[in-house]
Amino acid sequence: DKIQEERLKYLTDTKEIKAVTVLFSDLEGRLHMLDYDKKFLIKSYDNLTFDGSSIRGFTAQRESDLRLGIDWGSFYWGPADIFGPGKVLVFGDVIDKSGTPYAADIRGILKGFADQLYSKHGYTMNAANEIEGFIFAGMDAERRFPDTRRFEYVNTGGYYHSLPGDPLRSFIDTTAEVLRAMGFQNEKDHPEVAPSQFEINYGYGEVIGAADQIQLYKLVCRQVATKLGMTASFLPKPVVGVNGSGMHTNVSISKEGKNLFWDPKGEEMLSKLGWEFTDRILTHGNDFCLVMNSSVNAYRRLDPHFEAPNQLKASATDRGSMVRIPIGNEKSMRVEVRAVAPDANPYLVLYSIFKTGLEGDTAKIENLRQAQRYLPDNIYTAIENFRNATWTTKLLGEDVKARYADLKEASADRCPRLLGTFVKAQEVQFH
Ligand code: GLN
Ligand code: MG
Ligand code: MG
Ligand code: MG
Repeated sequence: DKIQEERLKYLTDTKEIKAVTVLFSDLEGRLHMLDYDKKFLIKSYDNLTFDGSSIRGFTAQRESDLRLGIDWGSFYWGPADIFGPGKVLVFGDVIDKSGTPYAADIRGILKGFADQLYSKHGYTMNAANEIEGFIFAGMDAERRFPDTRRFEYVNTGGYYHSLPGDPLRSFIDTTAEVLRAMGFQNEKDHPEVAPSQFEINYGYGEVIGAADQIQLYKLVCRQVATKLGMTASFLPKPVVGVNGSGMHTNVSISKEGKNLFWDPKGEEMLSKLGWEFTDRILTHGNDFCLVMNSSVNAYRRLDPHFEAPNQLKASATDRGSMVRIPIGNEKSMRVEVRAVAPDANPYLVLYSIFKTGLEGDTAKIENLRQAQRYLPDNIYTAIENFRNATWTTKLLGEDVKARYADLKEASADRCPRLLGTFVKAQEVQFH
């Protein structure tokens, strides 16, 4: 197609480009990168194969060969001081032997859903994520964690604490600059509530790009932190007694450029479609909580004392409720899903939220938006809910649903069921 032709020509003509990094994510959301020499890629872009058996949640040993197609619509220059000279980053589609999108490649599933919604209703899904994280001293703080059992802050500030020369400030400034150079629409950045915690916000976008940007954001944060001799961590609750890190997921639907969640006469100025969307998410929140909170550690974060939700509620103000309706206008009106942790698979999170919001059921519960219903407080309950729900089968199909639940169970079972007062080495999955 046209964009492929254009990009191939650009690669050929641009002498500075030496290599192309193709990115894809496994079922749990871990980012994988394959580096291709530019000349090789230009010759072989339609025949890139890789061994899927070493990727979590992908194929079994005997059917391990998969193909990587290139999504030429995603195309990012990698700033040289972070990625090395002459690198371009693109996202890949995982394709199986028969040439069809691979079932466990959630990015592909999300893409299929986006295409379907657009052709059926003319809808575009939009998302903006507020990704929080911590900066810890030492460039291998996470790797050393099993031995050290503690993370060391790089500053003691809090919200808006931004003195020049402060290590956290240096990290934020450098990261913001790299993101800007890669084409992110930066909006604001600041140290967060907990010491050594940060958040860098950028503008919303169409759903696939938004999910890709989550992966890039985390990648860039890690790279920058390493360059500065520190570690960026997206563990949801790395330290007890202070705020954890969330990945608030702001979503809306537009049609022909008009925001369908906006209605100046609606309750909280949210449209009927927006409220139905919210109700369906509240109805199924427990079914797919495992997708939003996919690690043992994520359940430690869900505590309203630390501005993280534990209730299946919608509120304009209460930050302990799963869904918040922020004040907005014609352009920015949206629904904010706060119950999402930054170590979740972004493609799976966005797919589940949109698919549920648009096609899920609404429970016949009196005053659904205010009812006292709680999210699971541990991963075992979340796994059980996920397995038992018929909705999650409709979301993912029997096979991918089972694979996902099995992976989560395996990682949870590596740690004792008794909850301690600190993060256990075995429960820490860094991604
Ligand atoms: N850190 C909080 C969370 O875990 C959010 C705090 C905030 O953004 N004000 O969701
Ligand atoms: Mg925020
Ligand atoms: Mg925040
Ligand atoms: Mg928020």
